[in-house]
Amino acid sequence: MSKITLLGTGACEGIPAPFCECELCCHTRLHGGKDLRRRFGVLIDDETMIDFGPDAVESLRAVGADETKIRRILVTHSHVDHFEPLDLVWRNAYSACGSLTFFSGKEVRERFDDCIKHISPPGTDTKINWHRNIPGKSVSDGDWNILPVQAAHCLPDECAFLYLVETPEKRRVLIFSDTGNPPEATWETLKNQHADALVIEMSFGIHEPWCHEEEYHLGAKAALKMIARLKEINALKPDALCVTTHVSHCSNTRHAELEAYYKNTELQAGYDGFTAEF
Ligand SMILES: [Zn+2]
Ligand SMILES: [Zn+2]
Ligand SMILES: [Zn+2]
Repeated sequence: MSKITLLGTGACEGIPAPFCECELCCHTRLHGGKDLRRRFGVLIDDETMIDFGPDAVESLRAVGADETKIRRILVTHSHVDHFEPLDLVWRNAYSACGSLTFFSGKEVRERFDDCIKHISPPGTDTKINWHRNIPGKSVSDGDWNILPVQAAHCLPDECAFLYLVETPEKRRVLIFSDTGNPPEATWETLKNQHADALVIEMSFGIHEPWCHEEEYHLGAKAALKMIARLKEINALKPDALCVTTHVSHCSNTRHAELEAYYKNTELQAGYDGFTAEF
């Protein structure tokens, strides 16, 4: 078996969003619990991370994981809640950390290069091996297999990625980070991939009409629709573990409401620190 941990299940602002006085943010400041959401991040088997946002290091520590043990980071896109290069710059300064493989598109690399030139001397070695993703083309990294596919997000400026990750135990997890209904080429590539688990974004919550949204992000109903299609094409096994993430404070949806909404469905409501074997 492999293990998945949700490091952060919030959208760009997290919950509570800084300075926000909406109902959900005020409630969360008072009551905390599973409504507290850091920015997006996923950890697989304690050595592979999806995205490295502003809360990355803190969220690893919150679940008892160790950033020096991370061997690869798969970045979905360059939005600031998914990629914040600052903490990566410290790799060279103090540590004898081993090498780290980075999977991303070119915009993420550009943001990293821009950050490092303001902080470190020219030619500084951060021991990062960059791999530039090509949608639909899988890559091996040690015993891991990484298949990036295109998301419906950031268009037309950038190719944002979803990932199918195969662990050394040959368990497969699909990461549907920021996305609407993906392009047909993505559905085609995912056919018969038989994933054991799915982490799926659910930015817009349970209320009408946003629960149907599937253009740039997903609502609660649209996420279920996405799962039905993934199972129909055998991208996902019938009994796969399916869990939500990337909840926006704009959804005005509390964790308990999301949990009730998905009761008796194949999808469960994720929260920061959620962990499961798959
Ligand atoms: Zn996001
Ligand atoms: Zn708010
Ligand atoms: Zn985004």
